[in-house]
Amino acid sequence: MLSQPDCVVAVVAHPDDAELMCYGTLCRFRRLGVAVTVVIATNGVNGVSLTDRDRVRLGEQERLAESAVSFADTGIEVVCLGLSDGALRADRELISRIESELVRLGCTMLLTHSQHSGNDHQDHLAVAKAASNAATRVPSCTAILHGEPHAPRNTFRPNVLVDVTDVLADKVKALQAHQTQGGRWYLSEEYTRHRAAEAGWSLTPARAAHGRYFEAFEASLITLLGPED
Ligand SMILES: [Zn+2]
Repeated sequence: MLSQPDCVVAVVAHPDDAELMCYGTLCRFRRLGVAVTVVIATNGVNGVSLTDRDRVRLGEQERLAESAVSFADTGIEVVCLGLSDGALRADRELISRIESELVRLGCTMLLTHSQHSGNDHQDHLAVAKAASNAATRVPSCTAILHGEPHAPRNTFRPNVLVDVTDVLADKVKALQAHQTQGGRWYLSEEYTRHRAAEAGWSLTPARAAHGRYFEAFEASLITLLGPED
């Protein structure tokens, strides 16, 4: 069993990515008293729902307001870097903005996008690269886990599980807060439950058979027994 982190930071590209990827994990850490922050790189203004064809552009704060509702009453802080949606690059600016946040918060565990998710959204891959790069230069950060917000590609190979059975209903509710994205299949309760069950069946079938649900991650850094242990 890994020691409990002091400060968990999820760095994601868009509003709703953290909820899809790791809402249950963040809630479980927070309930243990761990400081938890979600850093969203863009305001997701270009994420217009497929079912809302008359709408050409979202307001700058609309999707961030939905994330605020998702995380309301959880004790989890949400920060937006205000970068351009759809045009993220793992360049010096993005890396240094993320590094500044990790240092400011005293991050000990980073959760971010997968670096192996094939043809995933270009912003996800840029954040995955930039955040991983930044975290390796932050001495307090001793663990890096990578998730996948939507449908995991076959290049996504998780090897870390978090049991989210007791917070799965909260995750379903949090995803429903993203009203501007209404109609997207990956936000549905059916898919959320399917995916959380499937994560268990693929890696720990004995527990899945007992009705447990999971969020799954790839680990690129795990430190066992740091100096404080
Ligand atoms: Zn996204």
